[in-house]
Amino acid sequence: MSRFLNAGYAGLAAYVPGEQPQDMQYIKLNTNESPYPPSEHLLDAVSRAEVAKLNLYPDPDCRLLSRAIAARYDVAPECVFLANGSDDILNFCFMGFCESGVIFPDISYGFYEVYANLYGLNYSKIPLDRDFSVDFRDYCGAGRSIVLANPNAQTGKAISVGQIEQIAASNPDRLVLIDEAYVDFGAQSCVPLTKRYENLLVCQTFSKSRSMAGARLGFAIASPGLIADLNRLKFSTNPYNINRLTQLAGIAALEDGEYYDANCRKIIETRAYVRRELLARGFYVTDSSANFVLARSDRMDGQALYEALKRRGILVRHFSDARIRDCIRITIGTKQQMDALLRKIDEIMGGSI
Ligand SMILES: *Cc1c(COP(=O)(O)O)cnc(C)c1O
Repeated sequence: MSRFLNAGYAGLAAYVPGEQPQDMQYIKLNTNESPYPPSEHLLDAVSRAEVAKLNLYPDPDCRLLSRAIAARYDVAPECVFLANGSDDILNFCFMGFCESGVIFPDISYGFYEVYANLYGLNYSKIPLDRDFSVDFRDYCGAGRSIVLANPNAQTGKAISVGQIEQIAASNPDRLVLIDEAYVDFGAQSCVPLTKRYENLLVCQTFSKSRSMAGARLGFAIASPGLIADLNRLKFSTNPYNINRLTQLAGIAALEDGEYYDANCRKIIETRAYVRRELLARGFYVTDSSANFVLARSDRMDGQALYEALKRRGILVRHFSDARIRDCIRITIGTKQQMDALLRKIDEIMGGSI
């Protein structure tokens, strides 16, 4: 730290992203990326001719892409906000809508707490149930802003749209932010509820189900008032937050819905396979609706298993939070990648029991 940093930031604990080794020698099951590449159509859309226009600023309103998202999700374009990954949206929401305090689960996306600290917010972490479920009743009538990932991060467990509706209805004067980063892998989206609840904001990302983590594109759907607020914050910080190529890639990805839907179906099928195989080996495995599972074995500690897998060329994610320290989080890759993982687990732990 230099002597120039504002005192208020001196204690800031930054978010620690999962490892992104650049040597590409690992089977990467640690940051919930898609194992499948972007569609052919997208590769064509980001053409040499478009790259040649990088001397020009992109459209700060992302009009074509907003319209495409609005059409895909059956909402009005003024109900859509675009940003540089959904992290960018979360940033604006914590910046703009949480001064009366905010709550989120104790086990969830680690960035929520980082943003809460960045903006000096009054926040509480609500413990998940013993089986790692969100109990929606903990959030009804909370009187503070609410941030929930659904399916939840780290566990993959989802709550129902009906339960989210009760949370939104019982907190009419507070923002309810539902982070649907993983919704395409088997949960139900609450986007339709945004037409009835002006306090409900749903964010999604192109990073997971649409194979575009490297392009940085996220979007929010909410009532026009909330979207106008998000735009005010964006235009007060970084109006050109989505580059030209990413805007084109996003439109192309939306035109290729079938390709991405098929990839999601494959991942859901592979997830069921991996879960069965791990259960057969005596693991506890969350019943996940996301593109990862959280798993634990009584025979080996999470950190040790993470390290043993890494030595064998497979990267998974380990978290040091007390409640999940004994677990590893495994991204669902291709069937071949998962078979390689299972073989290595057998090698490390001495076969099935
Ligand atoms: C991956 C993830 C994000 C961030 O997604 P980007 O769009 O890549 O910024 C946000 N929320 C959750 C729960 C995530 O898992």
